[in-house]
Amino acid sequence: MLCKIGDVEVWRLLEIHGPFLRPEELFPTAGPEVGARIEELVPNSLCPTSGKLILPIQGFLLKSPSHNILVDSCVGNHKTHPDDPEWHGRSDTRFLSALAAAGLTTADVDYVLCTHLHADHIGWNTRLQDGRWVPTFANAQYLMPRADEELQRGRDSDTYKESILPVIEAGQTELVLEGHRLGDCITLIPTPGHTPGHVSVRIESGGKTALITGDALHTTAQCQHPEWHFKYDHDAESAVTSRISLLEQAAESGCLVLGHHFALPSLGRVSAAGNAFKWEDLD
Ligand SMILES: [Zn+2]
Repeated sequence: MLCKIGDVEVWRLLEIHGPFLRPEELFPTAGPEVGARIEELVPNSLCPTSGKLILPIQGFLLKSPSHNILVDSCVGNHKTHPDDPEWHGRSDTRFLSALAAAGLTTADVDYVLCTHLHADHIGWNTRLQDGRWVPTFANAQYLMPRADEELQRGRDSDTYKESILPVIEAGQTELVLEGHRLGDCITLIPTPGHTPGHVSVRIESGGKTALITGDALHTTAQCQHPEWHFKYDHDAESAVTSRISLLEQAAESGCLVLGHHFALPSLGRVSAAGNAFKWEDLD
């Protein structure tokens, strides 16, 4: 178990942990020294041979007394990514092994909450069975941001056809808007920009609070530099606005913060520092 927020256990389901892309490519407005700045703020987060930023791709499993909720489902197996050999046609058991280590089978997951509908967050939404894509979590309701579903449907991409549409056709999808609440403990916070419908997740239980950022931030170095644009942002300026607002909430409340792509342990706290913020890993 990664941590406990009141009565809610948080488990990490790690699928990939390795070099992704070079910092100057990921953060195109951050200037040529961005790699050195990241290394200063997040030591050992760059691959010494390639210079690429080392990112985890993981989901967070929330075990509350009433529900098991998966927040994002990584890249998945057998998905089509012709431009990305590491994501293409994977056949890997790490994600499902992590679910088993948390004491659950796929049938035990009650909700799959998608912070947004990018390929590295929805891959295990489905799995290939006898040549057909079927929901991996047969008993789960899948919550997807409405604006992201519209965007992906318009693109009719492989990601839509493989990881979104089969869940909709199975009748297991609820298209949600920001502010949606799930049980007593979970609220979706609007953080648009990275995608139009992107949400972050607030957990409140037993007087404790935590925030799961989703892709509102990709590295904790963005606490000091929330103004950095990210290569894959849909609307980079509105992503900046959302990032600052989320960091303000985190700093004011002093709550725990978890980020899907933050350097491990991907868990810490944010405080105000000058015109920006400061990150501290939780021991
Ligand atoms: Zn992502």
